[in-house]
Amino acid sequence: MITIGHLINGRSNMDGDRQQPVFNPATGEAEKNVLLASKATVEDAITAAQAAYPAWRDTPPIKRARIMYKFKNLLETNAERICQLIGEEHGKIFHDAMGELQRGIENVEYACGVPELLKGEHSRDVGPNIDSWSEFQPLGVVAGITPFNFPAMVPLWMFPIAIATGNTFILKPSERDPSATLYVAQLLQEAGLPDGVMNVVNGDKVAVDTLLKDERVKAVSFVGSTPIAEYIYSTATAHGKRCQALGGAKNHAIVMPDADMENVVNQLLGAAFGSSGERCMALSVAVAVGDDAADTLVAKMKEAMKQLKVGAATDNSNDFGPVITRAHQDKVIGYITSAEQDGASIVVDGRHPNVAGYPNGFFVGATLIDGVTTAMQSYQEEIFGPVLQVMRVATMEEAMQLINDHEYGNGTCIFTRDGEAARYFSNHIQVGMVGINIPLPVPVAYHSFGGWKRSLFGDLHAYGPDSVRFYTKRKTITQRWPSAGVREGVSFAMPTMK
Ligand code: NAD
Repeated sequence: MITIGHLINGRSNMDGDRQQPVFNPATGEAEKNVLLASKATVEDAITAAQAAYPAWRDTPPIKRARIMYKFKNLLETNAERICQLIGEEHGKIFHDAMGELQRGIENVEYACGVPELLKGEHSRDVGPNIDSWSEFQPLGVVAGITPFNFPAMVPLWMFPIAIATGNTFILKPSERDPSATLYVAQLLQEAGLPDGVMNVVNGDKVAVDTLLKDERVKAVSFVGSTPIAEYIYSTATAHGKRCQALGGAKNHAIVMPDADMENVVNQLLGAAFGSSGERCMALSVAVAVGDDAADTLVAKMKEAMKQLKVGAATDNSNDFGPVITRAHQDKVIGYITSAEQDGASIVVDGRHPNVAGYPNGFFVGATLIDGVTTAMQSYQEEIFGPVLQVMRVATMEEAMQLINDHEYGNGTCIFTRDGEAARYFSNHIQVGMVGINIPLPVPVAYHSFGGWKRSLFGDLHAYGPDSVRFYTKRKTITQRWPSAGVREGVSFAMPTMK
């Protein structure tokens, strides 16, 4: 059986005796093991990153960018292998894995522009013969902790820009599907990165806690569930680190009575069930305004869902694959059952999917639930499965109130033909990422990604312009070169420009 190790100081590292199985979620079988790093192994990675930092910090940004160009080419050349690894451990269908990888590569393209991004701000003559400028310097050793659902894309949100801005990096991927992440890091090494600049430690809470508490780590980026995000944020900041911790979601789509319903159905199918609903931007609640809109939506969705194909990653004609673990399959099914017990109606029931050839896979079929209310547990909590819940309200204001009252504020969308309604919605809704007839409004790499409320702890969003600020600190320098004969006397008053 293959054992997945670490990447420390440019070399494969197999230290440690704790390990856990990595499952193929389509077959339900443990096909690999992953090493779980000890505190000492993580400390070795921090030491390597610390040692690599001074030379990397002083490497001209254009040279760092050139490595990112090579890395981008290697990601493209090896895309098939990366997506195969994602399929084996996450269960994501090849076409969806290619989409994930492409969105990840766009962050590498952004990092290729780092000389431009680090140009800083300059003011001449802030006083007589005095100039002042701000520059953005790297932090040192920084760390990333990532979830299972995007094993290539979410790490690529973090380390390309962190490294391009001059930091050295330690990544702790999800222990449930670590191979694609490790392989991507090896490609960066192959692109010519000096040893120790990029390190990967696989592991669990032991590895995470070591990164959170070691004073040599200056900043932590986290993406995962909200309870862990909150823990990461409070622990990292209590240890004096800069932290951004992105959490879970419950993304609502408002379906207005004037919306193009054929379009809504097509969009909702992909946004609710794509990647088995295991996306933090998945649309899991459709709020229909008016009973007519709700009845039409439910009837059309029910019909369209008959065509959906769930199955293994290896068959590219499948629409989506299994969920990540047996425990998660049970959890998703449990939410469907709880909604039923709470009085909602299960319009399409995916609790017992029949996937030919994969009797032990962790599959859940696409599920549609109508008559959902705010009192239901299935509404209050993130399901993270292929489940779309329909709620019925009378007005757009009522729909917006629901969204604003929810503890999560990651993404949302409105389907309408009414520009005025859409404009009002985007201006007032208390959510970080908003779509207008766009169901998955994941910002492109040159904007930044982040939710509001309990979907993000910290101030700066992930990737894009916010990430340049997150991974650098501002230094402002004020300079004067006195010319001959210009001398000032002593002054004890606060310097001002009169
Ligand atoms: P998770 O919180 O279980 O795990 C995320 C990371 O935290 C993993 O690397 C894991 O090893 C580590 N971890 C888990 N428990 C820990 C503990 N007790 N102490 C320290 N570290 C711990 O999340 P997941 O199940 O891998 O991912 C799914 C979740 O991630 C969903 O809630 C989803 O919404 C969220 N997510 C959010 C975004 C976003 O951008 N907001 C993006 C992707 C996923």
